[in-house]
Amino acid sequence: MAHIIDGKAISAAVRAEITEETKKFVAETGVTPGLAVVIVGNDPASQVYVRNKRKACTEVGFYSEAYELPEETTQTELEALVDKLNSDPKIHGILVQLPLPRHLDEQRILLRIRPEKDVDAFHPYNVGRIMIGDYNYLPCTPAGVMELLKRSGVEVSGKECVVVGRSNIVGKPMAMLLLQAHGTVTICHSRTKHLEEATRRADILVAAIGKPEFFTADMVKEGAVVIDVGMNRRPSDNKLCGDVDYASVEPVASYITPVPGGVGPMTITMLMQNTLRAAKSSL
Ligand code: NDP
Repeated sequence: MAHIIDGKAISAAVRAEITEETKKFVAETGVTPGLAVVIVGNDPASQVYVRNKRKACTEVGFYSEAYELPEETTQTELEALVDKLNSDPKIHGILVQLPLPRHLDEQRILLRIRPEKDVDAFHPYNVGRIMIGDYNYLPCTPAGVMELLKRSGVEVSGKECVVVGRSNIVGKPMAMLLLQAHGTVTICHSRTKHLEEATRRADILVAAIGKPEFFTADMVKEGAVVIDVGMNRRPSDNKLCGDVDYASVEPVASYITPVPGGVGPMTITMLMQNTLRAAKSSL
């Protein structure tokens, strides 16, 4: 039986700490941390994320602004908004919700956000700083995973860590953070041969591929720590599920994150942490 890592409880604890820290910061400086969230188009999932991000801002005592732009917004219009937010002293963090509609150049938009306000840590400058281990912001999902491991008492140093998935927002930075925590890291992806040989070596397995219940018990070592980043809909009942087949893997793992209620709740919490950090560094 695995210890179930309760992402909701850990996230609530971190948010309570951020709320306290924010109160102190506002009292000492008179500055309220401010986050601007920009969404283009009407993707329902993105709208839910944006709503939750604003709710989290209110909860921890931040100021927030939301810009809901129509699908036909042009590159020039969006860049103009980013420029305005870049120079707005009330705004310490800017988040442009991805994915953007196809006609917009995502990379150019991310490059346009001032690195000091890039609380998603997607700007190449911040990505580079993560690579050399000298960073102010960490990308929210991998940072959330590290916090879950830390607060569950899981030691990374010296462990075999296998990250499956190599996206810029999850897999790659995840691998880098585990490396910085002194794990021995293997990154797997869709062209990895004999994936199960790699995953069965893992003391810490991070699943981030976006395939419902892909990882089954036979791919997991007895006693492994299993972190499920996946957020998918199960084809049979359309319910939320992870990349890990929880029912079969839970009995062989030592620690496991459920979906929902594992990694998911941490992502927005880490965004709050980055925004507070941005406000502090702005002084
Ligand atoms: P991407 O689609 O950008 O990347 C998926 C990665 O998985 C790619 O590197 C791909 O390899 C690899 N992959 C796909 N299929 C396989 C396979 N069969 N075997 C091995 N590797 C495979 O996804 P993201 O990184 O953005 O997201 C991954 C999952 O995490 C999704 O379910 C997403 O919803 C979830 N997510 C959850 C968040 C949270 O807050 N909990 C936040 C962000 C994402 P290749 O590079 O070769 O194509």
